[in-house]
Amino acid sequence: LFTRAWTFARGTPDLDHLPPDDRPEIAFAGRSNVGKSSLINALVGQLRLARASNTPGRTQELNFFTDPERDLFLVDMPGYGFAEAPKEKVAAWNKVIRAYLAGRRTLLRVFLLIDARHGLKPPDDEILDLLDGAAVSYQVVLTKADKIKPTDLEKVMERTLKALAKHPAAFPAIIATSSEKGLGFEELRGTIAQLLES
Ligand code: GDP
Repeated sequence: LFTRAWTFARGTPDLDHLPPDDRPEIAFAGRSNVGKSSLINALVGQLRLARASNTPGRTQELNFFTDPERDLFLVDMPGYGFAEAPKEKVAAWNKVIRAYLAGRRTLLRVFLLIDARHGLKPPDDEILDLLDGAAVSYQVVLTKADKIKPTDLEKVMERTLKALAKHPAAFPAIIATSSEKGLGFEELRGTIAQLLES
């Protein structure tokens, strides 16, 4: 699945222009700069897949990627947590995301990307509430694991798992990744393959 030539299928800022829900879907959410494009590119082994759509203006869109066999959509969700983002923009974003998460019947899981150096932070509470409220299956993926020492990574993973215990909808396992070093992708691909089989 991940050795195929993935392509950009569609980008949309609203729910009126979603692609048809004719195949399973996996979405990726996270704060701006968390390493979301890098992770999607590393996942499919294509350097520029997600980045190509990450031109300004596209970043506030839901971007859909698919493989040639149309077995799966990967969805790059708009980054959140811009300190300078105007309130009404954040509210509009939340509305679209909430509706997307609640209404997309083919959505198998949302991977919530968290920077391994920081772990869960207050700005992430909002997205956690949103995910809990949407009753969607979601799982935390730590990014940029190469930037911290293995012992610190273990501590962050422990801390994050503890915090997630308060969120029953969260999948009780974390995947640590480094797009730079190619770490954690066998686990991530394996998790997605399992979801597709179930
Ligand atoms: P996005 O805004 O979430 O799509 O983030 P990007 O994928 O554009 O990455 C933001 C920055 O973090 C870029 O400068 C990347 O080179 C860097 N980055 C992303 N992933 C990794 C990683 O695994 N390790 C390291 N060291 N840097 C990374």
